[in-house]
Amino acid sequence: MSVELHSILKSTFGYSQFRDQQLSIIETVLSGKDTLVVMPTGGGKSMCFQLPALVMEGLTIVVSPLIALMNDQVSALQELGIAAAALHSNHDSENLTRIYTEVDEGKIKLLYVSPEGLLNQDTYHFLKRQKISLFAIDEAHCVSVWGNDFRPDYVKLQFIKKEYPDTPMIALTATADANTQTDIIKQLGLKNPEHYLSSFERKNIAINALPGQKRIEEIYNFISEQKHTAGIVYCLSKKSTENVAQKLKDRGYKADYYHAGRSAVDRKEVQEKFQSDELTIVCATIAFGMGIDKPNIRWVIHYNMPKNIEGYYQEIGRAGRDGLPSATLLFYSWGDYTQLNKFIDDSPATDHFKKLQRAKIDRMWQLANALSCRTNLVLNYFGEYRVETCGKCDNCISPPEFFDGTTYSKMAISAVIRSKEKVGQGLVVDVLRGSNKQEVRELGLDQIKTYGVGREVPQRHWLFYVNQMINQGILAVDFSDASRLKITPLSHQVLKDEFSPELAKYIDQAKVKAAPKTKSKPVPQDYNEELFEKLRSWRYKLAKEKNVPPYIIFGDRTLKAISAEIPQNNMELLNVDGIGKKKLEQYGLEVLEMCYEFK
Ligand code: ADP
Ligand code: ZN
Repeated sequence: MSVELHSILKSTFGYSQFRDQQLSIIETVLSGKDTLVVMPTGGGKSMCFQLPALVMEGLTIVVSPLIALMNDQVSALQELGIAAAALHSNHDSENLTRIYTEVDEGKIKLLYVSPEGLLNQDTYHFLKRQKISLFAIDEAHCVSVWGNDFRPDYVKLQFIKKEYPDTPMIALTATADANTQTDIIKQLGLKNPEHYLSSFERKNIAINALPGQKRIEEIYNFISEQKHTAGIVYCLSKKSTENVAQKLKDRGYKADYYHAGRSAVDRKEVQEKFQSDELTIVCATIAFGMGIDKPNIRWVIHYNMPKNIEGYYQEIGRAGRDGLPSATLLFYSWGDYTQLNKFIDDSPATDHFKKLQRAKIDRMWQLANALSCRTNLVLNYFGEYRVETCGKCDNCISPPEFFDGTTYSKMAISAVIRSKEKVGQGLVVDVLRGSNKQEVRELGLDQIKTYGVGREVPQRHWLFYVNQMINQGILAVDFSDASRLKITPLSHQVLKDEFSPELAKYIDQAKVKAAPKTKSKPVPQDYNEELFEKLRSWRYKLAKEKNVPPYIIFGDRTLKAISAEIPQNNMELLNVDGIGKKKLEQYGLEVLEMCYEFK
C-alpha cells in the first residue's frame, strides 16, 4: 500500500517523501478510522486528506471556514490535475449547476464547502445522494469556544456524525491546546479518534527580539538584504501601520498598509496584491489575519509587543509556510507593556478575565526579555518541554554574555532615589547620561549627584540594562503612578553590597537578518540566482494570465530547486521536488527552455 501512496505522492503532487507523520495519518484515514491532527502551519496538513481523497472511492467533503482559502486550495489542486471544486455563495447559479452536475457524474474527488454552505437545504439534499468517502474538517479549532477563532457555524457540524455515522472524519488544526483538542472531539463527535500531535516547533522560523528603539532603522537593517521578499509588519495602532508603510515606501520598498479602518475595497486590493507578489510588504494591525495563505512570506516583524503568546505565535506562523527559512523580529518596550495593560484595565471585562489577560501579557513580556532559547520558551508555554535548544533564535546564535552589573545597578538605583522616585525609565537614563533635555533641567535633575555618571554608556544600552534591573527586581515600575521607577528591598541589598546582580551585555543586534542562512535540508542554498529570477518573472506573468497567485503554479522552493539542479530533460525535471506529471506536461517545455541557457 505504502508503495502505491509514495507513487501517487510523486506523480500527482511532485514530492518524493512524506513529511513526519503524514504517511501514518494517511494510512489511518484510509483504514476508515476517525483522526485528529494537530500540526503546525505549513506542516502539510492538506496532504493528509487530499491524497486519501484520490485513493478512496467516492467524494471527499472538505469543510473550510474561508472562501479565499477554499479557492486557493481548489486552484492549487486543479493545477495538479485533480478534480476539485468549491461550493460557496460567491458562485452564480450557472457555476453551481455545473458543479452539481460534475459531482453527480462522479467527476469531482474533493468538494470544498463552508460550514454554512453545508447546512444549506439544497446542498444537504444534494449531498444525500452522493457517496461520501471522507469528511475533512479544516481549522477544526473553530468548533471550540476554547480555541481562539470560535465560529458558531462550526458547532452545527455536529450533524455530520449524526447523519453519516459510518463515514470517517479527519479534523485538522494548527492551534489547539489540550482543552481545545478534547472539545473538538466532543463537538464533532469523533469516534475513538487516532490522535496525531506534532511538535509546535516551526523549525524554519527564527525568533529574534529587540528593545523597541530606533525601530525603523532596525527594520531597514533587518530586511536590507532582501528587497524583494514578502513580509508583514504588525503594529498596534492604525496610525503606525500608515507611518511605517510610508517610510518603507520612501525607501523604495513596495509597501502598503492594512487595518480595519480602510474600505473593504482597499483591504481586498492590498490582500490580493500581496498574495500575487505585486506588493512585498504589508504593515498591518492584527485585522490582517486568517485569510492570508501566502506560502512565501519570508519575515514577520512585530513593531509592538502583542498581548499574548498565542496571538504572537499565530502571527509569526504566517511566515515560511513553504518550509523555507524565515525570520521574525519582535520589538518590545515598557510603553507597549503599559499600553496593553491599560487596554485591559479600561475594558469592561470581569476581574477574573482581566487577571488572566494580565498574566498573559506578563508571559509575553518574559519572552521578549528572555536571555535563553526563545523557541523553547514558546514551546513551554504550549506545554511542550525539552532540554535541547533551537539553535536558530537570537539567544541561541549569540548567547548573552554576562558581567558584574553592580556598578551600573548602583548608579541607576541612586539616580532613582535622588530623583525622589518621581521619574520613569527614560528620564532616569537621561539623568545617568547627563542629558541636556529641557525636562531634565526643569525638574532640577541636572543638579543631583548622579547626573551624568553613566555618560560613557550609550542610551539604548542603558535602557537595556535598566530593563534587566526591573526584571530582576532591583528596580520596580509603579503602574499606578505613571510607570515611575521605584526602589525595592533588593535595591538596598545592592547598595549595601549584599547582592551583586549579573547583567547581560548589550549585543549589537545588527547581526539579526531576515534571511537566516541555514543548512536545513532539501532547500538548495547554492542555486543560480539569475535563473531563479528569470523563472520568477515567468511565473509572475503566467499567474497574471491565469488569474491565480504565483505560488499555485510553482512554489519558491521548487523554483530554487530547478535553479540549483538546472535540469536538461524531462526526466531530470521530474526529479525536482515539487514537479509531478501534470506540471511537467503543462510547463516542462518552457521551463527547460529557460534552463538550457544556463547549462
Ligand atoms: P498546512 O495546511 O499544514 O498549513 P499545507 O498543507 O498548506 O500546510 O502544506 C504546506 C506546504 O507544504 C504546501 O506547499 C505543500 O504543498 C507542501 N507539502 C506538503 N506535503 C509535502 C511533502 N511531503 N513534501 C514536500 N512538500 C510538502
Ligand atoms: Zn533558541
